[in-house]
Amino acid sequence: MAEILNGKVVAAEVRSEVAAGVAELKERGVSVRLDVILVGDDPASATYVRMKQKDCAEVGIESKDHSLPASIAQNDLAVLVEELNEDPAVSGFFIQLPLPEGLDPLPLISAIDPSKDVDGLSPLSAGRLAIGLPGLLPCTPHGIVQLLKRSDIELAGKEAVVIGRSNLVGKPLAQLLLRDNATVTVCHSRTKNLPEVTRRAEILVVAAGRREMVGAKYIREGAIVVDVGIHPRDGGGLVGDVRLDEAEAVASWITPVPGGVGPMTRAMLLYNTLKAAWAGKYEEETQPIR
Ligand code: NAD
Repeated sequence: MAEILNGKVVAAEVRSEVAAGVAELKERGVSVRLDVILVGDDPASATYVRMKQKDCAEVGIESKDHSLPASIAQNDLAVLVEELNEDPAVSGFFIQLPLPEGLDPLPLISAIDPSKDVDGLSPLSAGRLAIGLPGLLPCTPHGIVQLLKRSDIELAGKEAVVIGRSNLVGKPLAQLLLRDNATVTVCHSRTKNLPEVTRRAEILVVAAGRREMVGAKYIREGAIVVDVGIHPRDGGGLVGDVRLDEAEAVASWITPVPGGVGPMTRAMLLYNTLKAAWAGKYEEETQPIR
């Protein structure tokens, strides 16, 4: 029976480290602030933003939202991005996605100063990650790697297989696993004989966005399985991309849904905000947290 990789517990550990770092900066007269650009009235986006602001409050990070109507012009959003780039009171900021129809997120995300890009999704941040320069890392893949490392799972030399090649999860995760010396295979919707490939994995990360797609036949005996997917369960609650009952019988470690990758993603946004504030003020000093 697989053991649980408890994202809730590890995320709480990250949050308490962030809270300590925020307090340390406060003592030096520096406040840490996260701004969010929220456009339109999508209820799910509004909920996510509220959750992120609650997380901020818990660790002492100030937050400010810029709520704008869906009718706003692309150029006005570009002006706001520039203002936030320039404002020294803003440690970091992000644009809540998706944007309403008619607005193109890529030029806006591309204009975010990499030192404030707390989502880590701009082409500059992605490029820095790809060539091994320091920078702010995308929250979900970074959260997954932190969850594994803080659970004392060694990555170097491991066969890692990632299902999914999105810019949000699969691609940056592959880069991070590579950085930690895993041997990485990336699978996607056109991969042939998927179970054959995934059964090679000592670490299998599933980010396909397909409800309960991965069952026992995809999983090597004793593998570590990370389930990134989030889907509403019929009758309430959430399920992932992995069939938990089948996977539990084969894997050695598994992340639950909910309570696995989700809390880590949220914690890493706070981590990035602190890191942005710290680097902006005390670049030459050691980071307060790992
Ligand atoms: P996406 O739709 O952008 O990408 C999915 C990827 O999976 C694509 O590269 C596609 O090629 C691949 N894929 C799809 N079907 C496949 C199949 N049958 N076989 C092999 N590969 C297949 O999705 P995303 O943004 O990367 O998100 C993936 C999932 O993770 C979603 O369920 C999303 O809700 C969830 N997610 C969770 C968190 C979290 O914090 N827990 C964060 C981000 C995304």
